[in-house]
Amino acid sequence: MMSSRIRFQVFQSESTFLHPRTGFSPVTERFEVRIDPLTGRTGHFSHFGAIKPQKLSLDAYATPEIKGFCPFCLEHRDRVTPRFKDDILSEGRLIRNEACLIPNLFPYDVHSGVLIMTDHHVVHLKDLNEQRLFDAFWLGIHFLQRIKAISPEQPYHLMTWNYMPPSGGGLVHPHQQYFATSNPGNQFSDELKASDAFYNSYGTNYWREFIEVERLQDKRFIGQIGSSYWLSSFVSMGLLGEIMCVFPEVFDVSQFAETHMEDLVAGLLKIFKYYISTDIYSFNTSLFFGPEGQQSFACHFRIAARTFLNTRDYAPDLNFFQVLLSEPVSVVRPEELAADLKEFFR
Ligand SMILES: [Zn+2]
Repeated sequence: MMSSRIRFQVFQSESTFLHPRTGFSPVTERFEVRIDPLTGRTGHFSHFGAIKPQKLSLDAYATPEIKGFCPFCLEHRDRVTPRFKDDILSEGRLIRNEACLIPNLFPYDVHSGVLIMTDHHVVHLKDLNEQRLFDAFWLGIHFLQRIKAISPEQPYHLMTWNYMPPSGGGLVHPHQQYFATSNPGNQFSDELKASDAFYNSYGTNYWREFIEVERLQDKRFIGQIGSSYWLSSFVSMGLLGEIMCVFPEVFDVSQFAETHMEDLVAGLLKIFKYYISTDIYSFNTSLFFGPEGQQSFACHFRIAARTFLNTRDYAPDLNFFQVLLSEPVSVVRPEELAADLKEFFR
């Protein structure tokens, strides 16, 4: 049975207390714990709908007192950002229209690139258009492909992106990270191991089966764009939910072609439209590429909306749960997120 291999387990429960607003009569609040069908990691869902994304005034980030010194701005970039060594990138830096790839001054690993996406310092979500996104992904992926060819000791390849301060991004100027590593992090490693185990047990690829099951269940499936399949994650990594996109035919970064980039950009633009309509101003994304020669771990992308809990004291939307318990918490039901997003994917 196909469905028995991939199980979507939800443990629903509730907590009852005497509520001060109802004259201390009993009130019951529901919550859920879900188990990720691949990794077995859990996630909590509670406080449904109680946290709304906070509006940011992006234009304030451009004022001199907040902006401060930005190394990515055009007037400083050439002078204060590093260049790659000749044996890695003989060009020193890679350029494609506005996109500019440089080494990270604070490297995550042996090969660690920063992709400056725009000439402008503050770029609204609506202005992260098709051209800018495509140029950024094109340049970053080509960097990873070149690194892969010269550096097989770092078999895993990642793109990551923090957009705007609620996401933890240290600079407002839009930029992504591209790096090769032999230590891709716990989430990546757990998924890779579990994907291998699934392949060894059933002789088939988890990710292909996963999108088939999700498409048939039609609870979290959002849509297909070319070679990409979009859905809301069964366990959300972000407080405001998480959307993922699977490329079931891509297993390593050398297989990620321009058509895949176009599909990724097309889906992302739809998500941005949804974000704009719901006052989401910030997000984290990741794009995972497994090692060469395997057919168990498909390329996939994640995007999680981020917000401050308030703009009075700028409390972040991460707390002891994520930091110390390694447990994601979400206030959005993935099935509702998928239903909302479907409108944008029609
Ligand atoms: Zn700047």
